[in-house]
Amino acid sequence: MGILIVGSLALDSVATPFHSVEEALGGSATYISISASYFSGPVNIVGVVGEDFPQRYIEMLESHNIDVSGLQVVQGGKTFRWSGKYHYDMNTRDTLLTELNVFEQFDPVIPDNLRKSRFVCLGNIDPVLQLKVLDQLEGDPFVVCDTMNYWIEGKQDELKKVLKRVNVLIINDSEARLLAHEPNLIKAAKMIRDMGPQTIIIKKGEHGALLFSEDVIFSAPAYPLEMINDPTGAGDSFAGGFIGYLFKTEDTSTGNIKKAVIYGSTMASFCVEDFSTKGLENLSYLRVQDRYREFLTMTRFDELD
Ligand code: AMP
Repeated sequence: MGILIVGSLALDSVATPFHSVEEALGGSATYISISASYFSGPVNIVGVVGEDFPQRYIEMLESHNIDVSGLQVVQGGKTFRWSGKYHYDMNTRDTLLTELNVFEQFDPVIPDNLRKSRFVCLGNIDPVLQLKVLDQLEGDPFVVCDTMNYWIEGKQDELKKVLKRVNVLIINDSEARLLAHEPNLIKAAKMIRDMGPQTIIIKKGEHGALLFSEDVIFSAPAYPLEMINDPTGAGDSFAGGFIGYLFKTEDTSTGNIKKAVIYGSTMASFCVEDFSTKGLENLSYLRVQDRYREFLTMTRFDELD
């Protein structure tokens, strides 16, 4: 049985100070599943799209060995749409539009053969839907969860119920501050861990990511890139690389979780090099490992040097 990924599939319109794209492929589940597909298969996606979702996107997912049989296609329905605009420093963005469309009526159904999945990634969607997914799981899965300001502001009570039931929460720095009502990230991480997840990963865009678990704080850099084209999906690509590596190694020890954070950063760095999912579409595990090794060289130092 492979990884189970539940989240959004979207048509995104994105503007940076340098370029823009209209109705490009996006969505949390999309980025997570393509990113995870480089580690080990099969990757199973559960989500919903409308009749207007281009068939070529489904074919692209399938070409990455992503099983889309859990994808609901609503006849006459409109796919989820999101639009965002990045500022000059590209670490900050404004959401211009969130159109839930088919997500408003979505009732996620986890196919029988996936209910016992051992590795589950709840991508960024309504926490009410995340709870419905958790209720259908059997056994004791390792659950990684992502969310965003939209849900922290709009559905905080439901989100807190989700947090009680997940192993890892991945969020960005501003979302951590918003959720904990605390400006200091170390204090915020402690407060969020008290809400449930044993491990929390706080992403800081081009400044890397911080991992907090019971007795460990681990700081991972971001890969230094001269050209960032589109930061959209970086967080989701991180989550895909993170869970993909844990699934491949079947090891959720703290030491291995640190390595998974570096694989997450590796996948995020590929994602931002191009618009939409393009930066993730033509990779190989060899290229992923090469960049992972560059991270090792970049962060290793000797007191005697
Ligand atoms: P990230 O840049 O990693 O935060 O993820 C951006 C992706 O999340 C985009 O492709 C959007 O389509 C998707 N997204 C944005 N807002 C939401 C939302 N409220 N619910 C689900 N997915 C969303």
